[in-house]
Amino acid sequence: MTNAEFPKLKAEIIMVWQVTVNMGMGFGERRFEKGRIYTFIGEVVVSMNPYKNLNIYGRDMIEQYKGRELYERPPHLFAIADAAYKAMKRRSKDTCIVISGESGAGKTEASKYIMQYIAAITNPGQRAEVERVKNILLKSNCVLEAFGNAKTNRNDNSSRFGKYMDINFDFKGDPIGGHINNYLLEKSRVIVQQPGERSFHSFYQLLQGGSDQMLRSLHLQKDASAYNYICPGAQLKCSINDGAEFKAVADAMKVIGFKQEEIQTVYKIVAVILHLGNLKFSVDGDTPVIENSKVVSIIADLLSTKSDMVEKALLFRTVATGRDVIDKQHTEQEATYGRDAFAKAIYERLFGWIVTHINDVIEVKNYDTTVHGKNTVIGVLDIYGFEIFDNNSFEQFCINYCNEKLQQLFIQLVLKQEQEEYQREGIPWKHIDYFNNQVIVDLVEQQHKGIIAILDDACMNVGKVTDEMFLEALNNKLGKHAHFSSRKLCATDKTLEFDRDFRIKHYAGDVIYSVTGFIDKNKDTLFQDFKRLMYNSSNPVLKMMWPEGKLSITEVTKRPLTAATLFKNSMIALVDNLASKEPYYVRCIKPNDKKSPQLFDEERCRHQVEYLGLLENVRVRRAGFAYRQTYEKFLHRYKMISEFTWPNHDLPSDKDAVKKLIECHGFQHDVAYGKTKIFIRTPRTLFTLEDLHAKMLVRIVLFLQK
Ligand code: ADP
Ligand code: MG
Repeated sequence: MTNAEFPKLKAEIIMVWQVTVNMGMGFGERRFEKGRIYTFIGEVVVSMNPYKNLNIYGRDMIEQYKGRELYERPPHLFAIADAAYKAMKRRSKDTCIVISGESGAGKTEASKYIMQYIAAITNPGQRAEVERVKNILLKSNCVLEAFGNAKTNRNDNSSRFGKYMDINFDFKGDPIGGHINNYLLEKSRVIVQQPGERSFHSFYQLLQGGSDQMLRSLHLQKDASAYNYICPGAQLKCSINDGAEFKAVADAMKVIGFKQEEIQTVYKIVAVILHLGNLKFSVDGDTPVIENSKVVSIIADLLSTKSDMVEKALLFRTVATGRDVIDKQHTEQEATYGRDAFAKAIYERLFGWIVTHINDVIEVKNYDTTVHGKNTVIGVLDIYGFEIFDNNSFEQFCINYCNEKLQQLFIQLVLKQEQEEYQREGIPWKHIDYFNNQVIVDLVEQQHKGIIAILDDACMNVGKVTDEMFLEALNNKLGKHAHFSSRKLCATDKTLEFDRDFRIKHYAGDVIYSVTGFIDKNKDTLFQDFKRLMYNSSNPVLKMMWPEGKLSITEVTKRPLTAATLFKNSMIALVDNLASKEPYYVRCIKPNDKKSPQLFDEERCRHQVEYLGLLENVRVRRAGFAYRQTYEKFLHRYKMISEFTWPNHDLPSDKDAVKKLIECHGFQHDVAYGKTKIFIRTPRTLFTLEDLHAKMLVRIVLFLQK
């Protein structure tokens, strides 16, 4: 945005505040101070994180929103949840609620309130199976957060994975099952954290909450600073109560249906990771050795395998040279790399296994559509928000790319489709401009030319390519791209380090990424020896988690897809899935960066409102129409409210009949007639039509009874 544009935009925002506050649908400073944190823009809810507990999610509030139309009550998450639920139940539409906003803006909290609302308004008959499913859906959050969330500098309970949850409903509108998709867990956090941050909650929870006896059996001590992998976060203040959460998680796992030995294995894995981090490698002559062999035997014990096998997997790797298979000794550096990769991999695998386990328990089984009618779903997406840290790496690159994809979907569904429909229908319409971020999506994901393709190319050249060479390839191929720069491309830009940084101009702001580690993280190599080690464990739960450990080195032939490509594919599938459903949006805004319930940082809010495209959204909505329907369907519903159309009309077309009907009630100033559809500007007209419809219905019934 240019300087000249700023005053204009600011005036626009203030106007939006004023207009919307007067209309009872505002967002902005005044609402925030009063604790009214929600605003509607059409079917989009804007939510401002209050950073304090508000008494607005209780049973009485739920009752106020249950079964109501969107505009009947003040803006609230429950209103959107109810709208999605109604669309699903009345019209058998698959719907989805997409929650977006930057890290700490309140997405995860919003997703939980939405789930609670849906749970509260369904299953009036208290059917046991439905209760079970609801209970598991609610409890699963607690477990997923323990293993997938961590304290970051933006949020004490930041989701470090993406979550998309489908809830399945039967013909009565009761939840009968669900499915969770998880996306890229930030596993690098297992071995290293930025200053001021912690590893995943699960580690601290186990140490704080595990009984003395449990810790003893895991050979752990209570003090987190004794463990290299999680030590930096040990003394940090965090609003998570680790001890209490540990018990809540253990309880939730039981409710979900984890067996005792499975829960034990979960904690054994967490403990193994802590012990792995404390292994010390050194060299004896030219042979790498492990200094603290006691730790090796603890790890072997916890993994139900033998010490010498653990030691071998840590110090050697099996390689196939032609027909021969040899054990190649690691250097000290390779051994450390292998160990860290192992720690990250078993944590990631554990997380995936937990999700699969939950899915097994809530999956819809034996649903017969011929008996029960269509099985519909509501999807809830809570995925990592746009993120800028002091040091941004591969993970932030993926997270921010994901947000570009979601913004693109928002544009497609909310800004573009709506305007295209007016054009198609021949409704007089002045196009409202918006920034289309497709150009940034392409920069990242385009085949052969995008950053991911260039990164994958670099990773194909085994062992020869460094992160710097990857950056060089970016410079060569993307030098002219308006959203890409680096020091080499712009020598005067001192914010960028030579041979290390590149910058992407994201829709939500500029982010400088450091290429250090990109190649390794993208290749994501885990030596086959570790997979075999796990597969050969005599603990059946562990063995099950590592089926590919069955293969010997000569059987492993295919090069696995890279982390970035896997992520890209999962994002494309996600967006396709969301686009096939009727979308509802929650756009979360962060009032300040200090987690303060008082502070309203105007500049920060302005920035978010701007990049989220909310002003364009308001403009499209204000100039647009709240409701549209084909003439045929419209007549089908409302023909009984006019003598010209009831029971049948004799006008040349349905369109003419609708015109007549509208005029005889005096609504002509609030509608526009398109080629195939009628458009109604304000919800009020629609409510009045519905009222008339309901009254006529009663009269017709009475008449028939007579
Ligand atoms: P995100 O998922 O967007 O990163 P969270 O949902 O985890 O953010 O919210 C961050 C923190 O903000 C929460 O831990 C909580 O303290 C506070 N918060 C968010 N939404 C609300 C809300 N509706 N009411 C009260 N506090 C909230
Ligand atoms: Mg979150």
